[in-house]
Amino acid sequence: MKRKQAGELSKKFGLNVVQSRYSDWGNFYGLVQSYPCALWDRSGYIIFENEDALKIPGVSIAKKINVPKGISSLNGYKQVIHDIQPPEELPDGVEYYEGAVQQIKVNRYERDKKARDACLSHYGYVCQVCHVKLSDIYGAIAENLIHVHHIKPISEIGESYIVDPVTDLIPVCPNCHAVIHSKSPPYAPQEVSAMLHNDRTVEL
Ligand SMILES: [Zn+2]
Ligand SMILES: [Zn+2]
Repeated sequence: MKRKQAGELSKKFGLNVVQSRYSDWGNFYGLVQSYPCALWDRSGYIIFENEDALKIPGVSIAKKINVPKGISSLNGYKQVIHDIQPPEELPDGVEYYEGAVQQIKVNRYERDKKARDACLSHYGYVCQVCHVKLSDIYGAIAENLIHVHHIKPISEIGESYIVDPVTDLIPVCPNCHAVIHSKSPPYAPQEVSAMLHNDRTVEL
């Protein structure tokens, strides 16, 4: 399905490529077999003329291509899709975080890369609900593993709304984020904090 989606996007935007691949977050792809190739994320694409062109900092090629920061972080990326709607306003347009402990609906403010980066540079990669830093538990592999939650309910947002990365967004771990979104409208972060049992004993 994703392969078909990538091919259709390349056709739609008239790209002269032999192969196309797609990933929502632009960070993980099957290996490319033929060139030129277009890698797509949800809002744009980048073209690689040959395998050597992929051998750049920020990209690793093993059995799969891995671009941890997403293709939108690479020179040559072109954004062509701007109309990503908040899923809360589109009953059928459900978007999910990939790879979360539990799949949850998120809105576009939680997926906006610039706002997300600004939020994380203010708060760091520490869950603001349970105060866990995932790299403290799992090590370096989890260093960038965090979600960004948008606090303001979509229903309270007017047309001229501009997200404030510090007051409107907070970093949360995938577990707390799943709990926050376990009802609609979501729980307030403080409500989920209050659910945490500080005296629990964990048996390993
Ligand atoms: Zn947490
Ligand atoms: Zn959220």
